[in-house]
Amino acid sequence: MTAPPTNEVRPPRTDAMRILIVEDEVLMLRSLAKALREEGYSVDTADRGGEGLYKALTFDYDALVLDVMLPELDGWTILERVRAAKTTPVLMLTARDASRDRVRGLDAGADDYLVKPFDLPELLARLRALIRRAAGQAKSVIVVRDVEIDMRARVVTQAGRAVALTAREYGILEFLALHRGAVVTRTTLYEHLFDESEDTGSNLLDVHVSSLRKKLGADLIATRRGQGFCIEESA
Ligand code: CA
Repeated sequence: MTAPPTNEVRPPRTDAMRILIVEDEVLMLRSLAKALREEGYSVDTADRGGEGLYKALTFDYDALVLDVMLPELDGWTILERVRAAKTTPVLMLTARDASRDRVRGLDAGADDYLVKPFDLPELLARLRALIRRAAGQAKSVIVVRDVEIDMRARVVTQAGRAVALTAREYGILEFLALHRGAVVTRTTLYEHLFDESEDTGSNLLDVHVSSLRKKLGADLIATRRGQGFCIEESA
């Protein structure tokens, strides 16, 4: 342990999910904590890696929100040490343009990641999904009709048959499947799947969606004119 707990360690409430946020950017930390409390979560915070690790190992959280770049200990180190001891779901916050971070994070046992800057509703949705998944024996497979998406292996099968997807296609499919039943706007997809350097004025997204439809059937991903794309729960 490199640091004792210093603030906001409260006894867990039995009626609330308890979340730990480890983030050194004070404004981000405060606004996240406030938003999560408004959602009814019990929230602990840490603004340094040592304190974050201490709390993550000492208390039983329903999920961790873990920034990558932190003083004392970085998010990777914390993730590794937590994973050695616990199965607490971890949502990593990575910097933009750090796509290697995402791969590293998922390899190291992170359950999900968000690229900064992110939308708050997005973070809340991911967190709910993480907690739900953890509750259902850490299921990492999404099933939509006859399509199965294994998010750990990043493998997609349809009716038991493996479907080869490019990384981009997989990213789009996984994102839509994680938000199934909801319309995902083009802007959201671009923000979460493409780097700033890429030409988002092009029809890149349509090209990938069209390719996904060829591989998985025309009706899996619906287009909502003027809004975005949607995977329905059932046909
Ligand atoms: Ca940071």
